[in-house]
Amino acid sequence: MQLSVVIPLLNEEESLNELLERIQAVCTQRNISYEIIFVDDGSTDQSWEIISTFSQNHPQVKGIKFARNYGKSQALNAAFKMVQGEVVITMDADLQDFPEEIPALMKLIVEDGYDLVSGWKKKRYDNVLTKNLPSKLFNWAAQVISGVKLHDFNNGLKAYKKEVVKSIDVHGDMHRYIPVLAKNEGFTKITEKEAPHQARLYGKSKFGTNRFIRGFLDLITVWFMSSFGSRPMHFFGFMGTLMFLIGFLSTAWLGIHKLIKVWNKVPAQLVTNDPLFYIALTMMILGTLLFIAGFLGELIVQLKRKRTDDYIVTQYLNIK
Ligand code: UDP
Ligand code: MG
Repeated sequence: MQLSVVIPLLNEEESLNELLERIQAVCTQRNISYEIIFVDDGSTDQSWEIISTFSQNHPQVKGIKFARNYGKSQALNAAFKMVQGEVVITMDADLQDFPEEIPALMKLIVEDGYDLVSGWKKKRYDNVLTKNLPSKLFNWAAQVISGVKLHDFNNGLKAYKKEVVKSIDVHGDMHRYIPVLAKNEGFTKITEKEAPHQARLYGKSKFGTNRFIRGFLDLITVWFMSSFGSRPMHFFGFMGTLMFLIGFLSTAWLGIHKLIKVWNKVPAQLVTNDPLFYIALTMMILGTLLFIAGFLGELIVQLKRKRTDDYIVTQYLNIK
């Protein structure tokens, strides 16, 4: 199979028909062997019924239904486990992305050998204040911190080599950082392709403005995990040593200072009257705590917890 199209969706009943038709049209015209995996992330409208009907009439259409709304990342993760196509393309269900982009994206993966291609909506049709500006800032920060040069991390339209999606674990709200996760796994041939984008035709956006706050927090997590995820002691040990040294040297200074005064029979005040004493004490305690955190981190990494899924699927369609 050449292509798997993965579509996470939450209450998108109005657009599903057109979406399916356009994907099928492109694939048939180009003679691409494909599957389409719809992941219903807890829709409360008719979305699942529509997908079920599709799946009866079209063997290429597969469906995964979540027990409730778990999030776009979980939806992508569930589908990534099932995909069979050599190229995997993710696409939003709201028709803001164009299915007609599929052949061009596939070409970049198959012929030009890229591991990941991200869509880039150079011209956006979203609200300027609530989306475009914050998103510029967000993408800039993500570029600086992750070192992955993309203009549009959050774009739902992305194409991957199959191996890429099989080796990453998309959890939490990490769908925004899949390129960073891929890079951490060693898939560094990442590029972007300008892709047309249109305003939402039906329904409304499923993410509020709090996406940016969550996005930044996740960015810090991604940065930490990619720098120290497998070696927490390198972070905590360094900070701990630094703090402990400052504390230790300050204490030593206080002690020696006092001893010299006593030795010379100069009247000396109590060590505890010096503010430096408290700073030194705090530093030494913090340093020790950071070390303990580092050791605990290493222990946890070593336990190599078996990955467990954080969602429950209630039904599968056309998937064995
Ligand atoms: N989506 C989802 N689960 C969620 C939120 C969104 O599967 O909890 C889907 C949604 O149906 C759409 C895609 O993710 O297919 C992108 O969502 P949306 O269009 O609301 O995001 P935006 O375009 O505003 O960034
Ligand atoms: Mg959208």
